[in-house]
Amino acid sequence: MAHKVEIREIKPLGETVFQYEVEKPKGFDFRPGQATEVSIAKDGMEDEKRPFTFTSLPSWEHLQFTIKSYPDHDGVTRKLMELRAGDHLLIRDPWGTIEYKGKGVFIAGGAGMTPFLSILRDLQSRNALAGHTLFFANKRERDIFDKEELEAMQGLDVHHVLSKEDKRPYLHGRIDKAFLKDHVEDFSQKFYVCGPDEMVEDVNAALKSLGADPDGLVFEE
Ligand SMILES: Cc1cc2nc3c(=O)[nH]c(=O)nc-3n(C[C@H](O)[C@H](O)[C@H](O)COP(=O)(O)OP(=O)(O)OC[C@H]3O[C@@H](n4cnc5c(N)ncnc54)[C@H](O)[C@@H]3O)c2cc1C
Repeated sequence: MAHKVEIREIKPLGETVFQYEVEKPKGFDFRPGQATEVSIAKDGMEDEKRPFTFTSLPSWEHLQFTIKSYPDHDGVTRKLMELRAGDHLLIRDPWGTIEYKGKGVFIAGGAGMTPFLSILRDLQSRNALAGHTLFFANKRERDIFDKEELEAMQGLDVHHVLSKEDKRPYLHGRIDKAFLKDHVEDFSQKFYVCGPDEMVEDVNAALKSLGADPDGLVFEE
């Protein structure tokens, strides 16, 4: 069932990443890490559905989406950038993407951070973050979103990895087998991987060759 919901606020988190605070339909529920099909409630756009993850917690009074737009591509995310508070979206039932299954390592590429944002916020709200690690891969420092919040999460070991900039205090390069061997000690813990197709494929293969059993989710890019 589609719900028509009002956008309350749109906040830029970077050049192309925006946070949408959206009205929550009465009784609407989801689990941290879940996504829904979203479309823009305007003529001709209603059926152009794209998957986006809830970055809010189920207990919040509003819903939140954190969306990376592709301004060079004539798609839905470009149109989402043009919306204003007071415009409406259509959202559908939540469906499972990545589910938290226990303590471990989160490896996110760009917008692939979104399911982890909700999962990490949930762990934080339960004082259960200790022993978790996050590798957040981006091209450049300016692409990192929610940096301050992530770094302030008590107990979470946060590492930013930049592929196109080499500057302190960030790690530089790609997350491959050599990188994982250097930065991870225990491959028997849980691994959660989310990002663009190629990254998820490469990181999952590297993790498997190191004896891990990763949960991966592809975000097309
Ligand atoms: C389960 C799930 C949850 C997701 N959650 C989020 C989220 O919370 N936040 C978020 O930001 N993203 C999320 N995504 C990714 C998001 O769904 C896509 O970025 C979005 O669908 C793109 O829509 P679009 O209409 O702009 O592009 P589309 O028209 O759907 O096209 C996307 C495809 O176009 C291609 N493309 C991109 N740029 C160009 C270009 N310039 N020229 C030609 N082709 C190009 C790419 O190959 C890309 O795969 C999620 C994806 C999945 C599968």
